Amino acid sequence: MTTHDLPKTYDFKTTEERIYSWWEKSGYFQPVNKPDQPGFDPDRKPFVISIPPPNVTGELHVGHAMFVSVEDLMIRYHRMKGIPTLWVPGSDHAGIATQLQVEKLLAREGLSREAIGREEFLRRTWAWKHKYGGIITQQIRRLGASCDWTRERFTLDDGLSRAVREAFVSLYEKGLIYRGPRLINWSPGLKTAVSDLEVEYAEEPGTLYYFKYLLADNQDEFIVVATTRPETILGDTAVAVHPEDPRYQKFVGRKVIVPVLGRLIPVIADSYVSREFGSGALKITPGHDPNDYEIGQRHNLPIISMLDEAAQVNVHGGPYQGQDRFECRKNLWEDMRQAGLVVKEEPYTLNVPRTQRGGEIVEPMVSTQWFVHIQPLADKALEAVRDGRIRIVPERFTKVYYNWLENIQDWCISRQLWWGHRIPVWYCAECGQSTVTRENPDQCAHCGSTHIEQDPDVLDTWFSSGLWPFSTLGWPDQTPDLAYFYPTTMMETAYDILFFWVARMIMMGLEFTGEVPFSTVYLHGLIRDENGRKMSKSHGVAVDPLITMDELGTDALRFTLLVGSSPGNDMNLDLKRVEANRNFANKVWNAGRFVIGCLGQVNAEPVADPVWTLADSWIWARLQGLIRDVERLFQSYQYGEAGRQLYDFFWSEFADWYLEIAKHQMANGGDRAYYTAKTLARILDLSLRMLHPFAPFITEELWGHLRQALQDSPLATECAGWPEALIIANWPAPRAEEQWEAKCVADFSLVQDVIRALRNLRAEKNVPPSRLLPARMAAGEQMDVLIEQAPTLVALAQLDPLQLKVCDKVSEKPAGHVGLVVGPVEIFLPLSELVNVEEEKARLEKALGEVDGQIIRLEKLLSSQFAEKAPADVVQKERDKLTGFRDTAAKLKAQLVSLE
Ligand SMILES: [Zn+2]
Repeated sequence: MTTHDLPKTYDFKTTEERIYSWWEKSGYFQPVNKPDQPGFDPDRKPFVISIPPPNVTGELHVGHAMFVSVEDLMIRYHRMKGIPTLWVPGSDHAGIATQLQVEKLLAREGLSREAIGREEFLRRTWAWKHKYGGIITQQIRRLGASCDWTRERFTLDDGLSRAVREAFVSLYEKGLIYRGPRLINWSPGLKTAVSDLEVEYAEEPGTLYYFKYLLADNQDEFIVVATTRPETILGDTAVAVHPEDPRYQKFVGRKVIVPVLGRLIPVIADSYVSREFGSGALKITPGHDPNDYEIGQRHNLPIISMLDEAAQVNVHGGPYQGQDRFECRKNLWEDMRQAGLVVKEEPYTLNVPRTQRGGEIVEPMVSTQWFVHIQPLADKALEAVRDGRIRIVPERFTKVYYNWLENIQDWCISRQLWWGHRIPVWYCAECGQSTVTRENPDQCAHCGSTHIEQDPDVLDTWFSSGLWPFSTLGWPDQTPDLAYFYPTTMMETAYDILFFWVARMIMMGLEFTGEVPFSTVYLHGLIRDENGRKMSKSHGVAVDPLITMDELGTDALRFTLLVGSSPGNDMNLDLKRVEANRNFANKVWNAGRFVIGCLGQVNAEPVADPVWTLADSWIWARLQGLIRDVERLFQSYQYGEAGRQLYDFFWSEFADWYLEIAKHQMANGGDRAYYTAKTLARILDLSLRMLHPFAPFITEELWGHLRQALQDSPLATECAGWPEALIIANWPAPRAEEQWEAKCVADFSLVQDVIRALRNLRAEKNVPPSRLLPARMAAGEQMDVLIEQAPTLVALAQLDPLQLKVCDKVSEKPAGHVGLVVGPVEIFLPLSELVNVEEEKARLEKALGEVDGQIIRLEKLLSSQFAEKAPADVVQKERDKLTGFRDTAAKLKAQLVSLE
């Protein structure tokens, strides 16, 4: 291939798809050293990541783009280091989300899941999954994710379902799973328990209602109680006060009357009660409030569930039975007002829990659910981080992890849904016992009755995703993959699911495999918009990664996400930065075209051994320094900083400086051109290798052209041993700094400084680029360097080669010259070359005349009566003006003298 085959601009649209399918077809995403193949070496330590499985209902958002970019960077880096590398992809069945999608479709046909029945509903949901379930994984491919798709898994596939079954039964057999009444988050709309993760809290205006609880033994006495949810009065089983609150001492142990219902409930003392909130007395509804539930447990209070699963008042609500919770609130309050029990209402800001999916207010409810007895699992998970078997990056999240696990509650794992892993428990209609087995039973394990029925509920989605790192590798079977790739290496995810997911994987991994599921947890930050607001569809500020990739290319999006991020810190994503990185991609492409063009100009082997120019040595030394820095930064997870350094090197050093100099070196032809082209090719090659994990597509495409161009040139030996694709090429190995590097970099920096100073002066004086300037330089000890670099100075600062004089020092500044000081070097340029002396003289004289006029006027004023009669501050102001004009006059005169 020759240069003219390389398009002028990089066409990411056609390139990305072509390259991705070539990579995938060539098997590059699969690990080398596969356990099921001959020559397998079990001692080669692999690098393994399990993808955080996106919801099968998902559509690509910036959060996905972030984790895919970071994980793909890690994977590509390790793959290029020659380490057997595996990234296991897959998706999550996403219980509620998927079920709602299918229910929505049913509703359009005028159907409901109840109407069609469980079996038909599941058939339709699977059909939906087969049709739409691949969308999210296709979108993840577009990001360049180099996952091993031959190992793709789904949380509801057969293997993973067997893993879930094994996990449940084994926990049950160990007594770590139980069924019982507990207060849970209930979604009345979805009619299921929901996890904390599926609840969103928002501040909303509400009311604080004050009312009287009358004492049973003396109805002239009462306690004022405040509540934000008066309807729950129907479920009260106590009134609590602080044990040391003098206002209420006399009531403790007595009974009060529940309004309307007339039930008697005790007044209890509990130090949980805040004396400052409301009236200092708290109504206790263990059936509908988590804190009240705790207090109720401490005091053995009865639990009354006064709402049904649709959040309507049930039989315990007396006359309000059948009313919706909010309707009941209104009616009960009105009845209490009639009865003279209402004290007052005041506005109050509520923290309202709403379900993420349905949007309605979550009702804390007591319900019979399945739970995991979590403490024994949590203890092991705490230990694994404390003793260093698992490291959390950044470290500050370790404390958060400890705190959460130390205060963990039992885990409610049942969900009243149909889409998911059905709970493997069969209840016997005859003896009432439960049968829990690995294979579906046809009779009761206790009495042999065949009248058994499976629990209708399914398991929380997090139960199956908690098994993800090992279930995806074949567990519970001891497969070769599990033996070799487990424990995995890295768990990379957003910090907001540290508990929901990461902690559960650690607990489950330790419980079922006896090993930590991964050795490092790397947490990235959340992505916010350019103003720091959280991105969500409802806010309407989302950067859509699909549109961004369409318009600016995948590499630009990835580069922006990776360079803008640091472990655990949120980042603000601004489309302007993606645009800037699209420009960087174009810069890389243009530099690549230039290098390939130079290779085309070399048509002969060199006649002599290489003699490198200062610029050649400088760029090579800088690249070696960069390789060392990037390696150090990668080892400490500072990918953003590594990307910034690569960007700066490529743009500001390679493209802006070396390429400019290389143009002139190439023009010399012969050996100089040969060795310049060689340097260009080497720098481009190594830069592309290091940029590859950040921007995989453009680097692969350009590297392929570079390889071809080298093969077709006299420099073919340069690419001997290169593989056919950059994705599997070697990562540049850092080497120790060599003796010559520091001096070489310092010398070239001086050359750069001199050129910059000259360029600035030219710009300041508007000297046209075509005018070559004479220059004299007094360089002291740097004389030899500047003499040797004269051609570079001439070329890059547009100096007149015949009138460039470099000497040791000058005795005095030459007249009529402008002097520039650049470190130890003084540069003199004749002013006549920079400005038109006559015009400048005229301008200065005119300005001086005006200033002199002002001076005369002020001198006259200040010697008149004004100086005595005017206020002192006014006089001083005029004196200051005079001083200013005298200064200006002196400067103008000095400038005039310098023109002589
Ligand atoms: Zn039985």
